[in-house]
Amino acid sequence: MNDRTLPIVSPARCEPHGEPRRDLYGDPRREPHGEPHRETVRPAACPAEDPARRDAGDGHLSILYRGPLASCDYDCAYCPFAKRRDDPERLRADRAALQRFTAWVAGRDHPVSVLFTPWGEALVRSWYRAAMVELSRLPQVRRVAVQTNLSCRTGWLADADLTRLALWVTYHPSQVAHDRFLDKCRELSRLGVRHSVGIVGHPDHLDAARRLRADLPAGTYLWVNAEEGRRYTDDEAAEWAAIDPLFGYSRFAHASAGLACRTGESVVSVSGDGTVRRCHFIPEVIGNLYDGSFEGALRPRPCPAATCDCHIGYVHLEPLGLYDVFAEGVLERIPAGWPALP
Ligand code: SF4
Ligand code: SF4
Repeated sequence: MNDRTLPIVSPARCEPHGEPRRDLYGDPRREPHGEPHRETVRPAACPAEDPARRDAGDGHLSILYRGPLASCDYDCAYCPFAKRRDDPERLRADRAALQRFTAWVAGRDHPVSVLFTPWGEALVRSWYRAAMVELSRLPQVRRVAVQTNLSCRTGWLADADLTRLALWVTYHPSQVAHDRFLDKCRELSRLGVRHSVGIVGHPDHLDAARRLRADLPAGTYLWVNAEEGRRYTDDEAAEWAAIDPLFGYSRFAHASAGLACRTGESVVSVSGDGTVRRCHFIPEVIGNLYDGSFEGALRPRPCPAATCDCHIGYVHLEPLGLYDVFAEGVLERIPAGWPALP
């Protein structure tokens, strides 16, 4: 399967590393890294005009990049990418696509931020580590972040500009021992690597999540993603909210139809061949990165989907106001001023 044939995801479904679900490899429901499918809430209001729109008009573009890679060294039960292997041809294609993308970013004359949202684990591949370092050192790059299980070594981070690089780390208790994972997180803190840590809100994870929260530095935000398909009672939700005070945003899918969303205007999804869509969840193609055809298509667009339940999507849904909550940490999921909340 090449990148062009990878299925597009339904908006009500999310991702790996603890995000919810999509139509993928015959599993219509799951995202890697721990994202979900749930009940729906509607944001209270839809402002006619958001002052943060177009990121103050400086041409800043946030890109969610996902190449052909679709494999992982972990074996999480809730993920369709668990222990998948990519053949050498796909790995070569992934590497070439990433290098093309990195070169494209290097040629921009406007601010760019990048979040790598791989279907699987990227940082075990040298080319993602190299791209993170290279992009972090480009003056026009404000942030480069990646979703990761943190199974990789951390020595490569010494070459990066740590004022721009960040990690979205997911803890998978079935795959890594508490102490080993905690040591890695502490190492990130010691090195000064900006990062969030998260976990899927499965009942079996509750004790592990509490223990991790207790042991992590207070300055490290621990997010909790509602589990795919799980309905939480108020008492259950309160237990998770005691770990992640922002759990309420993840507990329910957000009714998004017709509401203003920054995707397709100042945020886009890009696949390995340069195909540009507004987000990972809406199949409509708005252009291509490499022929420049997407640029004329960037404009305010209401969400065409009924709901949005992945953080990497709804964080851009304007009525939710999450740009105020996360500010500079929108892509890597770090609330502004944490451990205080705005
Ligand atoms: S670590 Fe790997 S197997 Fe686990 S959720 Fe993430 S992509 Fe899937
Ligand atoms: S709210 Fe935005 S990110 Fe979510 S599905 Fe709609 S357009 Fe995509």
